[in-house]
Amino acid sequence: MAGFAVIGGGIAGLAAALFAARRGNRVTVFERDARAPGTSGSTLDEDFFGRRRTGVPQAAQPHLMLGAARSVLRTEAPDVYDTIMRLGARERHELDWFEERPPARPGDEDLVTVQARRIVVETALTDALHAEPRAALRYGEPATGLLVDPSSTPPRVRGVRTPLGAYEAELVIDAGGRRCASGEWLTGAGCRPPLVERHRTGIAYFCRWYRLPDGRADGPARPWTVSGGTFAGCAVFPADNGLFAVTLFVHTEDPTRGALRDPAVFEAAARTFPPGEAWLELGARPLSPVLATAGLDNRWSSLVDEQGPIATGMVGVGDAVTHTNPTIAQGMSLALWTARRVARETDPGAGRDRGHGCAPRPGTGSPDFVTEHYAWALRTLKPWFDFQVTTDRAIGERFAVRDFGAGPTRQLAALFECAQEDPEVMRARAKVRHLAAPPSEAYGAPEVRARVAAWLAARPDYVPGTAGPDRREWDKITAP
Ligand SMILES: Cc1cc2nc3c(=O)[nH]c(=O)nc-3n(C[C@H](O)[C@H](O)[C@H](O)COP(=O)(O)OP(=O)(O)OC[C@H]3O[C@@H](n4cnc5c(N)ncnc54)[C@H](O)[C@@H]3O)c2cc1C
Repeated sequence: MAGFAVIGGGIAGLAAALFAARRGNRVTVFERDARAPGTSGSTLDEDFFGRRRTGVPQAAQPHLMLGAARSVLRTEAPDVYDTIMRLGARERHELDWFEERPPARPGDEDLVTVQARRIVVETALTDALHAEPRAALRYGEPATGLLVDPSSTPPRVRGVRTPLGAYEAELVIDAGGRRCASGEWLTGAGCRPPLVERHRTGIAYFCRWYRLPDGRADGPARPWTVSGGTFAGCAVFPADNGLFAVTLFVHTEDPTRGALRDPAVFEAAARTFPPGEAWLELGARPLSPVLATAGLDNRWSSLVDEQGPIATGMVGVGDAVTHTNPTIAQGMSLALWTARRVARETDPGAGRDRGHGCAPRPGTGSPDFVTEHYAWALRTLKPWFDFQVTTDRAIGERFAVRDFGAGPTRQLAALFECAQEDPEVMRARAKVRHLAAPPSEAYGAPEVRARVAAWLAARPDYVPGTAGPDRREWDKITAP
């Protein structure tokens, strides 16, 4: 086979394979699931609601595509983006929160969310890959191990094993997500273990899918976004083709957690939050049971430790490098950034010379290739991973002690509320949300700070998080 072997055909694997194939590399994707999304003659809905993907339970949860992911697709694979839109996705500009969009500034064009179920994105990527002469997709053929040459230092990964055979590869791209056993395969072959940083999040999610009533293509313009209190939160995720999901989240230790699996309790609880009430009162038709997800962590995983690369010939993309809890919805964006980088760095047409004064581009089997990949990841992805960890810690603490406190969490809550009235602050919030600017830059801008300070000064008694239910009401609704 040679070429590249990609472990996993989720968003990261499909994108990495497509971008690399289009740049002239031969790729083979090994996917554990028996069939591709959207290719069995069934409709998107039959596939989405009728098929359980046990290895990828999050595929049934709502997935927002942020501006960062949208930009990658529109430049790397505009045909894929067109298919996503043709399959029924919707675009939503952040500044459309306001009845009149404020005068445009450079960069505003990227502050757009794509509203679609994850299966829509996977279907579009899969269709494009099927049409690529340099790409092969092997469904129902999981990678079960790696071919590793232990005689080189560090050991060199030379391909993958599956139940059907052994496949030599010039480069193995690990896109097997957070549950993939690639780390164990490496240590089993004599490598040092991958460097892993892990943080538990303490947040449990409950989601249910609905369809808007006939004749309605859109829900209310506002409130449509996350609304969070001191012990629970609610978010509405508009998706493709008149579908939307309502999500509730509580602390994993919250005693009311079990009750939220009951659809009637779930709905009553969702209606105590402004977004839940605004969307559910439209007469939406439920399409799914309540789908629960908990025990998520934020996990950073690197094949480079303090001694250097633990192996060569393999790099990770997507959740295999940075698996993040969904509060910031950045997973697909970070996956697509990484997929694009791998494709660029392995582009046979680009040559090895990186220009005057730069060392030549390292070959895919060299230690430098792995080192540079993870150095790039540390520079580009890790700050967003760290932001996710900080955000989740703040939510977890708030839910655990049921108080916003007086510090930075209150300040951030004020910024979010101020943004709903002030386009400048909304723009700053949107830049962070779409990964266009780090929080320190966007929220730290003097104008933004001054506007939030003025907003707070005008509300000396401001208490965040009053939009949802109080605890007594919540306990009553969720009581057995
Ligand atoms: C509850 C939840 C909600 C989320 N919401 C959002 C959101 O709103 N926006 C967003 O951008 N991101 C979101 N994410 C993150 C997002 O799903 C991922 O970050 C992104 O899709 C990249 O995942 P991946 O392709 O790396 O891994 P996965 O999606 O886990 O895909 C891995 C694939 O590899 C396959 N596989 C695993 N092991 C093997 C093997 N040994 N051999 C062959 N195949 C294998 C699996 O079957 C699967 O298809 C969410 C995540 C969760 C948990």
